[in-house]
Amino acid sequence: MGTNHTTNTLQSFLDVNRQIKSYEEALGVLYWDLRTGAPRKGMDTRSEVIGVLSGEMFKLSTSPQLGDLLSELEQPEVLSGLSEIHSKLVTETRKDYDRSVKIPPKLYQEYVVISSQSESKWEEAKAQNDYAGFQPYLEKVISYTNQFIDLWGAKATRYDTLLDQYEPGMTTAELDRVFGGLREQLVPLAAAIAASPHQPDTSFLRQSYDKGAQKQFSLFILKQLGFNFDAGRLDESVHPFATGLSPGDVRITTRYLEDDVTSALFGTIHECGHGMYEQNIMGELIGTTLCQGTSMGIHESQSRFWENVIGRSRPFWERYYGDLQKHFPGQLNVSVDEFYRGNNVVQPSLIRIEADELTYNLHIIIRYEMEKLIFNEGAKASDLPALWNDKYKEYLGITPSTDAEGVLQDVHWSGGAFGYFPSYSLGNMYAAQMADTMERELPNMWGSVADGQLLPLRDWLAERIYKYGKLRTPSELIQSVTGKPLDPQHLVTYLERKYKDIYKL
Ligand SMILES: [Zn+2]
Repeated sequence: MGTNHTTNTLQSFLDVNRQIKSYEEALGVLYWDLRTGAPRKGMDTRSEVIGVLSGEMFKLSTSPQLGDLLSELEQPEVLSGLSEIHSKLVTETRKDYDRSVKIPPKLYQEYVVISSQSESKWEEAKAQNDYAGFQPYLEKVISYTNQFIDLWGAKATRYDTLLDQYEPGMTTAELDRVFGGLREQLVPLAAAIAASPHQPDTSFLRQSYDKGAQKQFSLFILKQLGFNFDAGRLDESVHPFATGLSPGDVRITTRYLEDDVTSALFGTIHECGHGMYEQNIMGELIGTTLCQGTSMGIHESQSRFWENVIGRSRPFWERYYGDLQKHFPGQLNVSVDEFYRGNNVVQPSLIRIEADELTYNLHIIIRYEMEKLIFNEGAKASDLPALWNDKYKEYLGITPSTDAEGVLQDVHWSGGAFGYFPSYSLGNMYAAQMADTMERELPNMWGSVADGQLLPLRDWLAERIYKYGKLRTPSELIQSVTGKPLDPQHLVTYLERKYKDIYKL
């Protein structure tokens, strides 16, 4: 193959990739608009437009032309001559291509209809506590997911195939190892905390806090953290989210609750972590599908690092509590220590999204174990409510009184997002492990936080993680940043250190 021919092939491949990325950006803007204030009457037309554009993008990303370009570029003598970025782009595009072309279009279209019906049915079933009404839909979604696993091919276990969608390279064997370690140590720690006589007071959090002042404070904190407003914006939505259209246009949202002064604030800091990751991807990746976070777990490690490790730390509030008080004159009369402790309460609860930093991981382990039972052991949809309740009793010592606050609480399964839940706890573990390295490499890290000097922390993360986008895999990142593979002990040590102090254990 001649050099000119290779150059042309590469150029055609990059053109297709850029077109796919353009569809992604256009769809991203449309979704953002739908969720932040598009007029209700425009929704039907908008859904159609989204359907058409998604269809075009799917055609492009499964076209025989793209398949041919990939095959040419994958020849060893060609691949070895490509730059690191181009070679990684070929590998990643091949993975997406194979995943998409293995599903017959007709089967996929059926699945899109079924999963969207299932999501609507779930919403209704949750509101009416009607698991029996939802069960047939969930059975169908599970059955389609099983067909997809057959078509994609099972990895070490069938469930591994699902994990790989959200956390490339992650396996059941690896999760059994890290979650096993976590569960063994967190269950007794949670029990010791529950038995402590030193329970923090949280009553001061529940007053009427002006939403305008909350918004002002959220904007102030975003600037302090280093969120770039020349390349981003903050809006409101029912469910907070972050969307990275390109490093130059990253949009985050939050939700202000009048009776809770910190709910929006911690939500804003969380989304800021996702946003700063996307804002700091290197310029060389712009216009390619590598220009995005590398996995759900690594993305979540960044939102949780900023929200929990920094945002819920004592040094952070030593610096910013005075500013918060000024935004709500006469309302926050507790000391900074009481404020800090009040925002770090550990309490076994039934609802995942309201859980604290410690018990959150137990909520995830329960879901992980259930997903393994479904896909590796053939557990049926009809078995799930009882399984759920048994596991809550075992790990958290509480039992849901209804399915609505039990097995029906999360949207994920209704839409077929099996294998997603572990990302949240992986995020906590990655964040603790990275923070441990950061503490050693930035010896005055906590002094900087107490001084409100947060940019060195952001820059440290940008240099080691953010800039690489999808150029490095999650396991390559954790190895290169911390010098070793994922180790759950860092999260355990972090939680023990924090809560032994707060609960005087
Ligand atoms: Zn998140």
